[in-house]
Amino acid sequence: MPAMTAGTSVVVIAGGTGGARFLRGVREHLRAADPGTPTDDRVTAVVNTGDDITLFGLRICPDLDTVMYTLGGGIHEDQGWGRADETFHVKEELAAYKMRPDWFGLGDRDTATHLVRTQMLDAGYPLSEVTAALCARWAPGVRVLPMSDERVETHVVVDEGDGEHAVHFQEWWLRMRAQVPARRFVSVGADGARPGPGVVEALAEADVVLIAPSNPVVSVGTVLAVPGLRDALVASPARVVGVSPIVGGAPVRGMADACLDAVGVETSAVGVAGLYGARGHGGLLDGWVVDTADADSVAAVEALGIPCRAVPAMMRDVPTATALARDVLALAGELREA
Ligand code: GDP
Ligand code: CA
Repeated sequence: MPAMTAGTSVVVIAGGTGGARFLRGVREHLRAADPGTPTDDRVTAVVNTGDDITLFGLRICPDLDTVMYTLGGGIHEDQGWGRADETFHVKEELAAYKMRPDWFGLGDRDTATHLVRTQMLDAGYPLSEVTAALCARWAPGVRVLPMSDERVETHVVVDEGDGEHAVHFQEWWLRMRAQVPARRFVSVGADGARPGPGVVEALAEADVVLIAPSNPVVSVGTVLAVPGLRDALVASPARVVGVSPIVGGAPVRGMADACLDAVGVETSAVGVAGLYGARGHGGLLDGWVVDTADADSVAAVEALGIPCRAVPAMMRDVPTATALARDVLALAGELREA
């Protein structure tokens, strides 16, 4: 598949755990296919920042950090977020002061990242430059771009029995474990946001845009809600291929089903394909990849006008994520030749 290796420029729209694991697979596949060419200039991650939150004065960007730590070799692999070999002394001391909130997993090693970020932001650097500075340490081997330099935060409108109120996405996800039904999601600040530096250009220059198996509503949906970003994706000459985060009617990890319920989309590989839509019919997708467990959904996806393949899509480790990236890029290559 020579058309999709040397010089191919790939943009990946990503959230945290699913996005990061997939990105690592893309990087490894391109490295193996073309060992002489560094991937840094060829792979761009456009990462959700809607999960970002300020706690105890610290600016925390969970999805950017998950991508950075996963690609940089610092992630807690089993957990899928946070640092390997982490301790929680700061969190314990805050608890001893009865500080709230107490539901955020603030690790000590992780706190150093948040301190650097907060100090740089306070000094006036935009998030994109702060992210580049943090990545200088982690050397993720891909360009990591925040979806926007402007502050955009996902809030969740819930009803806990005392009427509707909005909570930060992190509170809904971590404290409520997404068990309190979401009425709707609000992207606070999105109206005034613009795509981050380099994002529109990367989409315009891409050969392939991959939509990672990330949360379709609060990761990918939030990225696409930045004004101008979705238009730049639709206008891109690239083939756009996505991977289903739903396997066998359930999220692989996390609670994406609670998010899909809130927006009235069925938790299935077909449901998410329909949410993104066919490129030819006002949607995004030129192609869609589902897990082999959902092979019987391929026909239903193709009936939506989206060419579809079933391949092993469970990223158990780096080799399985790399094989998934190979298969997804192969579909993009086929679509390009067609
Ligand atoms: P978050 O920000 O940490 O929630 O992570 P993402 O938004 O990037 O990804 C969450 C989604 O990734 C969930 O809906 C999972 O079902 C999906 N996901 C996680 N691991 C895998 C995997 O190995 N294969 C597939 N196909 N999806 C996965
Ligand atoms: Ca996230």
